[in-house]
Amino acid sequence: MYQRIVIKVGTNVLTRADGRVDITSISSLVDQIALLKREGVELVLVSSGAVGAGKELLPGRTDDGAVAQRQVYSAIGQVRLMELYRQLFAGHGLLCAQVLATKGDFRDDLHYDNMLNCFRALLVDEIVPVVNENDVVAVTELMFTDNDELAGLVARMVDAEALVILSSVEGLYDGPPESSKSKLIARVDSQDRAVANFVQARKTSGGRGGMATKLRIAAETARAGIPVMIGNGRRPGILQDILKGEWPGTVVG
Ligand code: GLU
Repeated sequence: MYQRIVIKVGTNVLTRADGRVDITSISSLVDQIALLKREGVELVLVSSGAVGAGKELLPGRTDDGAVAQRQVYSAIGQVRLMELYRQLFAGHGLLCAQVLATKGDFRDDLHYDNMLNCFRALLVDEIVPVVNENDVVAVTELMFTDNDELAGLVARMVDAEALVILSSVEGLYDGPPESSKSKLIARVDSQDRAVANFVQARKTSGGRGGMATKLRIAAETARAGIPVMIGNGRRPGILQDILKGEWPGTVVG
């Protein structure tokens, strides 16, 4: 049984295929997190979805990829997301808190210590920290590769016993995930370079989406002593599988 975990949820779990915020999915995750908290697990949530939520609020614009447009989407979307989280956690009598960070905050000792002290104080007060990249400030070298990288850094910062990465895929497969011949890989040894190479090769051929970065971050985090569980955030009750000690996705250890 884990005492402290970090859970990262990707945009694909938080938004629907048409880009709208998926309130049902977010609500289900908050219900599961509340259950974990009742079991005494301390947790930090790393949530993407701000840019996605912002696009829903400003529909009909051509996404030109400009920095200012991304800043606007994330700035308005982050409010929308936190509004939802606040209401949903309140339904369980829980408080949540917003923590926004850039890569620079992990490089600067003072920023690092300030953030860590805040996490500690929030956890003592049994508040759920909801972390996202500070997309308003994080431009070029201040940007994380993605929120998987941010989640790995937060897991190390708070000395978590496990990192859970929830996306729209079940885990790592030994072939293209869409092929019925492919099998889910239940366990990956973080020292095993062969698996990393395989996923890397799939990605360059265009078939793997974000799995290559996920695996790289997962392997780095696991080598730092924190096992990583990759799984499908839409699978009912997936977070309760942690309590049962049965993970339906891939464990990188
Ligand atoms: N910070 C971005 C957002 O909230 C997501 C970054 C990522 O997709 O990893 O929209």
